[in-house]
Amino acid sequence: MNRKAVVIGGGYGGLASAALLARDGWKVTLLEKNSTLGGRARSWEIQGYTFDLGPSWYLMPEVFERFFSLFDVKREDYYSLRPLDPYYKVFFNEGESSVLTGDERQHEALFDSFQPGGGEALQRYKEQASYKYKVAMEEFLYRDYKRVSEFFNRKLMSEGLKLGVFKKLDKFVSQYVQDRRAKQILEYAMVFLGTDPADAPALYSIMSHVDLELGVFFPEKGMAGVAQGMAALCRQLGVTLVTDAEVTSITGSKDRADRVITADGTTYEADVVVASGDYHHMETQLLSSEHRTYSRRYWDSRVLAPSMFIAYLGIGRKLQGLEHHNLYFKEHWTDHFKTIFQTPSWPGDPCFYLSCISKTDSSSAPEGCENVFLLVPTAPGLEDSDRQREDYLNHVLAHVKRITGEDLTKDVEVQRIFTQRDFITDYHAFKGTALGLSHTLRQTAVFRPASRSRHLKNLFYAGQYTHPGVGVPMVLIAAENVTGEIRKIYGAPTA
Ligand SMILES: Cc1cc2nc3c(=O)[nH]c(=O)nc-3n(C[C@H](O)[C@H](O)[C@H](O)COP(=O)(O)OP(=O)(O)OC[C@H]3O[C@@H](n4cnc5c(N)ncnc54)[C@H](O)[C@@H]3O)c2cc1C
Repeated sequence: MNRKAVVIGGGYGGLASAALLARDGWKVTLLEKNSTLGGRARSWEIQGYTFDLGPSWYLMPEVFERFFSLFDVKREDYYSLRPLDPYYKVFFNEGESSVLTGDERQHEALFDSFQPGGGEALQRYKEQASYKYKVAMEEFLYRDYKRVSEFFNRKLMSEGLKLGVFKKLDKFVSQYVQDRRAKQILEYAMVFLGTDPADAPALYSIMSHVDLELGVFFPEKGMAGVAQGMAALCRQLGVTLVTDAEVTSITGSKDRADRVITADGTTYEADVVVASGDYHHMETQLLSSEHRTYSRRYWDSRVLAPSMFIAYLGIGRKLQGLEHHNLYFKEHWTDHFKTIFQTPSWPGDPCFYLSCISKTDSSSAPEGCENVFLLVPTAPGLEDSDRQREDYLNHVLAHVKRITGEDLTKDVEVQRIFTQRDFITDYHAFKGTALGLSHTLRQTAVFRPASRSRHLKNLFYAGQYTHPGVGVPMVLIAAENVTGEIRKIYGAPTA
């Protein structure tokens, strides 16, 4: 077969799409602007430390298993997995923390300690979350939406209330638990999907099924290792993976994209193009204006998911008070969300996520040392000078010490800061957003940017901006959806 497909972007979305197209008989070339693959899920090695630059939570393992099964291969031939126990530690205040283990009775006892009847309320909450998760997997996630009527279908109209599509998550959770710590445990994952829980549809209570019931895992060599496993699969399937290849334009004649051109002037002819970089950049920078699906007004009216302030720290001693995954939820966390979604500013007393993967993976740091990743969600588009980020790091490290008792200013062997300007330089992220678009109802399912261009019929989109959205499992599902669509249009392999 000589049908040529060009995939733009070597993140999870691009790698997964490339592998699936190759399986379907396309001759695939993947073009990635950076010198390594993985996109936001790359790693950084220095002085005996290996940092995951981006994602660190391996959730929804069944999505990964399903993805590899599409090729009749076993996931474990590409990377191995370890269940994590404990799942994570939550700091609520100075000196107040709880650890969530892999034991559901422990979760119930913890919720009982938060409020009378909390354990039983958690049980009921998890039951509805499991139901929604099942319906979402069967009905909503593994499908593409072209028309609003496809989303508001009979199932949604008859079950919409039960699924919580039209309610807000924060209010919904309050119907079950009122203690702020219990509520935060049931809502925090939404922040990872880039959305204020007060603005997210209650449908996303499925995230509590994802972390509390399906469990938390750690892949060998981190999330970047999983992306490398997918790159290995691509190579086996004959995909040509080209790094240091920045695409500068997609040309089209009539209603078809015909060529993809890189910065060094190389031209790749294409029968199909899958653009899997930041959607705003792909549309506004690579296409001429008559080929764009969305207007500037459209982009300016989107609710962007947060950017992030990240510090990678190699600490030359062991940190006793931390687990692999650690979270801090401040008492009034809406103050933090306001600085992201309403009045953009650097948060003064921020919630944060802190991982210490060397607790599980001794190869990620030299012996006796810890690999620390510190993340604060911030508004996209803030002032981001060298001085600002150095000052902010000092501010946040003092805050981390107050909350966790760990002084991360001592024994620092390696330090790197990564903020919105790096998201722009490294990934062409719109206003430096780390995650693309928030998951508000108006940016869910059929309301996310379309997976097929309106003007160039053989130009498709994948990645976190498209349905179902943000997060590695969602991006794998998007790749399956878009390549399924291509298969429907261009036919199955004939070999
Ligand atoms: C810090 C951080 C932590 C996260 N934590 C988690 C987590 O714990 N678990 C989880 O599931 N998800 C997490 N996420 C979300 C998850 O990482 C993303 O949703 C997912 O990796 C996005 O994949 P993608 O392929 O859509 O985009 P990307 O990974 O950004 O890939 C797009 C690629 O396109 C390339 N590109 C852009 N423009 C061009 C061009 N012109 N030419 C060529 N190439 C181009 C970029 O360089 C990039 O490599 C996290 C994200 C971040 C940033």
